Amino acid sequence: MTLPEVRERLSPNHAARGEPPRIDMLMLHYTGMKTAAEAIDWLCDPSTRVSAHYVIEEDGTIWRLVPEARRAFHAGRSCWAGESDLNELSIGVEIVNPGHEWGYRSFPAEQMAAVERLCRDLVSRYPIPPHRVVGHSDVAPDRKSDPGERFDWARLAGAGIGVWPELAKEVARGRGRGVGIVERAAAFADLAAIGYCVTAGSEAVTIAAFQRRFRPERWDGRLDRETARRLAEVRDAYDRARSR
Ligand SMILES: [Zn+2]
Repeated sequence: MTLPEVRERLSPNHAARGEPPRIDMLMLHYTGMKTAAEAIDWLCDPSTRVSAHYVIEEDGTIWRLVPEARRAFHAGRSCWAGESDLNELSIGVEIVNPGHEWGYRSFPAEQMAAVERLCRDLVSRYPIPPHRVVGHSDVAPDRKSDPGERFDWARLAGAGIGVWPELAKEVARGRGRGVGIVERAAAFADLAAIGYCVTAGSEAVTIAAFQRRFRPERWDGRLDRETARRLAEVRDAYDRARSR
């Protein structure tokens, strides 16, 4: 696939990958700054030591900041499926949005179309399976909330990028109610099986990260019955994706 509209502005913030390189994860972010120009300047400033491979503006313009063969600095302290050096393994894509700090808003259609096009291209060129397409908040739930609850993960999954479960039609009975000790243990086993790295003290923020992505109507970090059921559905979908 060709991506003729990719513009280039190279960031100095990158390093070598391992030898041989292994690229099997795609990580999506939002920029969380007031403007695209400000974000791109930040990601290209040698003093910040942060970067990403791509930035996608709200009008769909795609910028390449770091060559894919190099390691960009976008994940920070993070963990997925037991691994923690995620910059080493991943392609990082920053999607322009002011974020929760500066006025979080919906991602425009032109931008989502560009996100889908770029991600399809990446997952076709690298062995990036659906269960290794992650959001920054999935891998750093104690620090990050991007790309956030307005991001249309279901749409991307429909295009073969990431996992989306088949959702049961009716809402679980007792929605909003808490779960018992056995269900709670099962729910945390589901979280871990999906790939979330839950540590002591990070339970609520990890639940919230899961909710932002898979139950975006409410991301309060509370393990209610609806969240527990959604966890089981998502885990099933991840189990199927991993067995393919
Ligand atoms: Zn991020």
